[in-house]
Amino acid sequence: MSMRHSGIGMTSQRTRMRMVQRLREQGITDETVLAVMNAIPRHLFVEEALASRAYDDVALPINFGQTISSPWTVARMTELLRANSNLGKVLEIGTGCGYQAALLAQLAQEVYSIERIGPLLTRTRIRLRELRISNIYLKHADGLHGFPEAGPFNGIMMTAVITQAPASLLEQLMVGGRMVYPKGSQKQNLCVIEHTPHGFIETILDEVKFVPILAGVISK
Ligand code: SAH
Repeated sequence: MSMRHSGIGMTSQRTRMRMVQRLREQGITDETVLAVMNAIPRHLFVEEALASRAYDDVALPINFGQTISSPWTVARMTELLRANSNLGKVLEIGTGCGYQAALLAQLAQEVYSIERIGPLLTRTRIRLRELRISNIYLKHADGLHGFPEAGPFNGIMMTAVITQAPASLLEQLMVGGRMVYPKGSQKQNLCVIEHTPHGFIETILDEVKFVPILAGVISK
């Protein structure tokens, strides 16, 4: 991010520091993730009317029936994906308002992110340009097919719930890479899949609440 916009960010710097302290108390341990959450102005990713609640530990609506995940959920998924090492190329399914992508862009070399709702993506494109974040490549498509022309990836994150990781996405995950996503339907848990030389290893973790993955695209 360029310094040109640091003025906007500074208005809520103290609120953001309190959020980060709360995340630490809630068990987030990756200080690199916490530093990035301290730097990215989360309130600029929600509608102005909701900005005052942007740092509360809640999910908030971002239009089109979608939500920005709570700070804890975002932090937890990001630390699981990072696993204490820098990320090369990352794929995100479900760009939404772009907050998660903006964080990943500080932790990875390149971020590829796919969103199925066109008008939502248009707004997010403008927002990321205003924040001068330039290592995110956005695509309006059904993310279930992944981003084969850009893969394989060191990490894949899905930010909408699905009963099982699609094979098409696992095929785009490098050996040594990992995928993080909410797994389930009514009951949902964070799931980490590691691609080892001997195959895929799945770990089921914290209970969460996400909007569902849907097939197809919406253009307007
Ligand atoms: N990471 C987002 C969270 C957005 S909520 C953020 O930081 O704001 C999940 C998003 O996934 C929604 O925007 C929804 O439209 C999108 N989504 C659902 N199914 C999808 C699919 N098949 N392909 C791409 N995006 C999808």
